[in-house]
Amino acid sequence: MVGAAHIAAGAAIGVATKNPWVAIPAALVTHYVLDMVPHHEYMPQGDHLTSLTKGQTGHMLFRAGADFTIGMLATAIITQFNIWALMTAIVAIIPDGLNSLGVLAMQSAETKPPSRLQRMFIAQRKFHRLIHFKKGPYDAPLWLPLLIQVLPMFILLWFVVRLVSG
Ligand SMILES: [Zn+2]
Repeated sequence: MVGAAHIAAGAAIGVATKNPWVAIPAALVTHYVLDMVPHHEYMPQGDHLTSLTKGQTGHMLFRAGADFTIGMLATAIITQFNIWALMTAIVAIIPDGLNSLGVLAMQSAETKPPSRLQRMFIAQRKFHRLIHFKKGPYDAPLWLPLLIQVLPMFILLWFVVRLVSG
């Protein structure tokens, strides 16, 4: 799922609850729940990530970076820099960051036994992939996930902000 959609969902929870004990676990859970919903991806999924060329990796990192930056900027603007929203927005995207660490850990585990931390990254990645929706056409044009994932999430965030700020 597009990172910005996870970010908006996490932010909505932060704004709505304003309680870190509820908001942080709930923001994490939203990540996995949203990944279970059928959706398109804008970048390839799976273990072949490590076999990409330098150019493909650069393109992917650029997209992921733009996705994160635009998601956080839109969240900051909609919530007027609400600290709860920004914090839970980051929490909600952490599983995708952990996934990248899982790929690196799996890669290094091919040559030497993984450390305890690396085993945790690998376990997170396995769980994440296990529950993740699997049949998406991953080569979807970029506008499609933007329209059906990102837009509804930011509209939801906008409504939650309006509701809470009265
Ligand atoms: Zn994910």
